[in-house]
Amino acid sequence: MERHQITGHTELTCLLAYPIRHSNSPAMHNAAYEKLGKDVVNLAFEVDAEHLEDAIKGVRAMRILGGNISMPNKTIVHKYLDEVDPAAELVGACNTFTNRNGYLKGYVTDGIGYMASLKDNDIDIIGKKITIAGSGGAATAIQIQAALDGVAEMSIFARDDKFYANAVETVDKINSKTNCKATLFHLEDLDALKKEIASSVLFTNATGCGMKPLEGYTYIPDKSFFRPDLIVTDVVYAPPETAMLKMAKEVGCKTMNGSGMMLFQGLAAIELIMGEKVDSEYMKAKLGIKYD
Ligand code: NAD
Repeated sequence: MERHQITGHTELTCLLAYPIRHSNSPAMHNAAYEKLGKDVVNLAFEVDAEHLEDAIKGVRAMRILGGNISMPNKTIVHKYLDEVDPAAELVGACNTFTNRNGYLKGYVTDGIGYMASLKDNDIDIIGKKITIAGSGGAATAIQIQAALDGVAEMSIFARDDKFYANAVETVDKINSKTNCKATLFHLEDLDALKKEIASSVLFTNATGCGMKPLEGYTYIPDKSFFRPDLIVTDVVYAPPETAMLKMAKEVGCKTMNGSGMMLFQGLAAIELIMGEKVDSEYMKAKLGIKYD
């Protein structure tokens, strides 16, 4: 493994989450810093909710430049920051924070990453209707960002589980704070799902279906739910082709998996922390990112 030459001048950014050893975020950050020619390294720290306040005190004391936040800390870190960006406030979660002279500000870049990955694939949903399934962290971030960016209409399908209340709140926020018209449906209502997909330009899966332990599973019953001019995207990137994307490809739909969202949420975080853009084509090649 190539190692950055660490000296007394080298600065630090961090990832605070638990568990986190599996994450490819540090690899992405370190590759980006190298490309930018920055004497900075990124390290992952296994910090749980109980130790997060102390960790953020450490960030201030040690002047860590900024960092990423993942589960279980995304929805609680705002308590320890000085300010939260309005989009992160609406989503109710932060996955990134910056440190400018001791002033810590939180952001969420998951929705930005998803929207950027669409753009990178020449997919335009602004002013149009989309249907999206999911009510957890990834779904909420995408739904809020898509509404803020100018999607005209959004049908949200949520399973009747502990996340359903999130979807109720998200729909309320979108309808009261953005120009997008959002409507909530139960994911179990397959007639409604078929009808809403039929009148949408894009359908996206923003649930955990399709990845472990639900690998090979999709709640889409059959190919009649899709048509060739529908765009079908998935937040899941491992495996790169979920059962749902496979079905969509067989119908002839344009498809996109979650690896672009993962890349661009990271690049947006790096830009916020470092104040400089990294070339996405370079990063795609470096990380071997493919959309399908
Ligand atoms: P979460 O735990 O916050 O939410 C899980 C969601 O999945 C909920 O909406 C839940 O209702 C739904 N769900 C779970 N089991 C289901 C089932 N059997 N049928 C229908 N719906 C079901 O998780 P999250 O953080 O929102 O992550 C969801 C997925 O998004 C994961 O696969 C994760 O890897 C992926 N993700 C991708 C990116 C990316 O950058 N591409 C970023 C974040 C999350």
